[in-house]
Amino acid sequence: MRYKTRLIINLNLFAKNFERVKKLAPKNEILYIVKANAYGHGLVPMVRFAVQELGIKEIGCASLGEALEVRESLPELDVIPYVLSDLGLSSLSSARAYVEKKILPVVHNFADLDFILSQSDFRYIPLCLKFNTGMNRLGFSLDDMDLLVAKLKQHQRKIIHHMVSHLACGSSSIKLENNLLQLSRFKQIKKRLQDEGFSVERSSLANSGAVEQGFALDETHVRPGIMLYGVSSLNKETRQGVWQGEPISTLETYVLRSFEIKKGTPVSYGATPCPEDGILAIIAIGYGDGFSTRYNGVSLKVGEHIGKVVGRVNMDMANVLFPREAKSELTSGRILKIWDHSQTEILNLAEQVATVPYELFCQLSIRLPRIYTFK
Ligand SMILES: *Cc1c(COP(=O)(O)O)cnc(C)c1O
Repeated sequence: MRYKTRLIINLNLFAKNFERVKKLAPKNEILYIVKANAYGHGLVPMVRFAVQELGIKEIGCASLGEALEVRESLPELDVIPYVLSDLGLSSLSSARAYVEKKILPVVHNFADLDFILSQSDFRYIPLCLKFNTGMNRLGFSLDDMDLLVAKLKQHQRKIIHHMVSHLACGSSSIKLENNLLQLSRFKQIKKRLQDEGFSVERSSLANSGAVEQGFALDETHVRPGIMLYGVSSLNKETRQGVWQGEPISTLETYVLRSFEIKKGTPVSYGATPCPEDGILAIIAIGYGDGFSTRYNGVSLKVGEHIGKVVGRVNMDMANVLFPREAKSELTSGRILKIWDHSQTEILNLAEQVATVPYELFCQLSIRLPRIYTFK
């Protein structure tokens, strides 16, 4: 475990982002997405805060194990976890966990549906269904509707607790044909279910990108993830400063040692020649922490000085080359922030690493302590 290299999470900013989401989606319930260790921010503390302090009632996990972790660590907490993709129903013992721990599987294929319909103790588990409206990944599609309706009727299931579908292009403009088509299919499926006599109690299609653009808000629920962690889901072309959220975390590390270096001096594994004269700072973060080798070349700041990651990032350390003027700032122990509460900076960083902010967050490894503050 690290000490001074750490992720500091400001729960006050999280609360503010939650209020901002509620302003954008005032009529909708929020199903808070906490998969992948709450996007790297720590599953259990984030869920505890969201439920106890913000009144969030439903959370979205990707796998059963995540939902079980919530149940085991927070047994008294009044929250409903959904499992959205990796249901694990093929093992009988994990299937039992849904019944015993009151976890909702979002069923997305006929094998799992048949299993659930055939088990007497699943009879009282609310039925959640995922539909494929154009993502073409998981879920029942329009072509499956006859069979689906027949099976539900055969087992006298009349209530759809929550119908879910996911947008393939939620990070792009809502005007995109894909998005409009997915919304119209979603409504078509809902209408078909209602016409067949089913009661559809909850429905959701919007993730962060849709919420940001006010899309698919006719449904009872929205399912925001990344925006609550403070960063827009939208791609560069679509983003227009709409989402005013603030990133809730600061990723900080510190200088282990710094020294003057001449252009051409070999640096780190592989002995990459240093590209310029300057001050080389060795920082206490590496790919073992989630600071991947792809951070090579990115700009990092110390005070007013901008450095560049040079040489190979290794498991435990990375090398940042600063101009000579930065020398007095780069004392051993000096804190260096990889990111802070600026959305623009995280978006720029992700662009330099040639990925999305989602991945920067999810890469953060267990070696980094997560420290929670509220101020
Ligand atoms: C991950 C996920 C979300 C949240 O997506 P964001 O873009 O982070 O808001 C919503 N719904 C489903 C089904 C997901 O898998």
